Amino acid sequence: MSSDRIHLRVGVSDLRRHPGERMGVQRDVDLGGIGVSSAAVPAGSTGRLDVVVESRSDGVTVTGTLTVPWTGPCRRCLEPTDGVAEVHLREVFSDDPVDADLLPIESDVIDLGPVLHDAAVLALPLAPLCRDDCAGPAPESFPVQRADGDERPVDPRWSALDELRFDPGTDAPLE
Ligand SMILES: [Zn+2]
Repeated sequence: MSSDRIHLRVGVSDLRRHPGERMGVQRDVDLGGIGVSSAAVPAGSTGRLDVVVESRSDGVTVTGTLTVPWTGPCRRCLEPTDGVAEVHLREVFSDDPVDADLLPIESDVIDLGPVLHDAAVLALPLAPLCRDDCAGPAPESFPVQRADGDERPVDPRWSALDELRFDPGTDAPLE
């Protein structure tokens, strides 16, 4: 997958001189190529990042949203469909990321690339639907067995077989 392709490094040295100070970051981010089995971001498509970076005494927080354009087959009718998912971000970057939930600040720079990759993957729909009331496949393009059961009349030449009952032990017809 393309985690290496997302690069979004944000310098926070000025911000960190004043704990409590905030800085808005809005960017278009190339998410093309990110995908799961059910949906993917089309090649060349960008997501929109809109976050606030806030300085804390021991690091910075990043809070906001990422929009993720996607395409994929509708789970009912299998026609191509698309949409835009929005995912909320809340990450904490720390000088001393002892906790596994914390991300590192390196040389007064935070790297949002891996965060955006993971957020985009999680935002993709696992079961896309072209519209809420999609009725499923058009019968003429996807012949399917009728849900109420196949009621074709049995060919009379075979009907005698229906009368036979076999002994499961011997496969011999029972009288
Ligand atoms: Zn559909």
